[in-house]
Amino acid sequence: MAKKVGPAGRYGSRYGKRIREMVLKIEKKQRQRHVCPKCKMKKVKRVSTGIYLCKKCGTKFASGAYYPEGA
Ligand SMILES: [Zn+2]
Repeated sequence: MAKKVGPAGRYGSRYGKRIREMVLKIEKKQRQRHVCPKCKMKKVKRVSTGIYLCKKCGTKFASGAYYPEGA
């Protein structure tokens, strides 16, 4: 009984449309490159929930679960 859902479908329908739109917004932000707090290069990639890795200087740091704090 696979229902066709969007990218945020894994969050389930119980959250409703508004939350899904919020999640989509957050995920869009997540996919952007972030600025490294150390070298200030826009080379930071989110590797896991709350874990970010700078491709430039190799700094791995923890921050907000969805995107670096203050971003
Ligand atoms: Zn860096």
